[in-house]
Amino acid sequence: MSELQISIEGNSFTPNRIFCIGKNYDEHIKELGGQTPKEPVVFMKPVSSIEVPFQTLYMPSHGKLLHHEVEVVLLIGKEGKNIPDLDALSHIAGVTIGLDLTLRDVQGRLKKAGLPWEISKSFEQSAPLGIFKSYNPDIINLQNLSFTCSVNEDIRQQGNTCDMLFPISSLISILSGWWVLRPGDIIYTGTPSGVGPLESGDKVYIESPAIGSFSWTLAY
Ligand code: ZN
Repeated sequence: MSELQISIEGNSFTPNRIFCIGKNYDEHIKELGGQTPKEPVVFMKPVSSIEVPFQTLYMPSHGKLLHHEVEVVLLIGKEGKNIPDLDALSHIAGVTIGLDLTLRDVQGRLKKAGLPWEISKSFEQSAPLGIFKSYNPDIINLQNLSFTCSVNEDIRQQGNTCDMLFPISSLISILSGWWVLRPGDIIYTGTPSGVGPLESGDKVYIESPAIGSFSWTLAY
């Protein structure tokens, strides 16, 4: 997928990096038994792990428990370093929803051993991503955006960005203190509670009324 281009209203973006935020919703932290972070938990996926909508996702063979995590995903359109909170949303070019696929059993083992998470989070096709919608604050309210994840028509996750520990403007501001944010950077903003396993044959469907709906099918 390295030639993937993201096009929004005539502007084309080459995906640059994928930042992922962990532990950004209280109820999700509780379900995994973790601690509330004092600053955003950040990890990355390679851009090559992006999978476009309506494709088949192949179960990775190096783990047993493949979990769905539905998340609101941002596309940065304007470069910035140390972006103030009040300015942060003006750096967003597009918004969509996506899945941060996670091999939970592998992640558990790595966490326990104090090792990096990559093989549990950054495998092939680990970042199924919807189509970006141009960010217009009059249409998309990032402080109150609802989204869901269903598996075989059962709703598993229902989230709203109003429940984030670090709201989107703070995430952008804080990340831009640690990195220069650049056009083409993608930010997965964390998952609400309800994460759970996917099996071969499942259809996973994610939706947000202001953005759209996207699905993938799991196979061996
Ligand atoms: Zn996640």
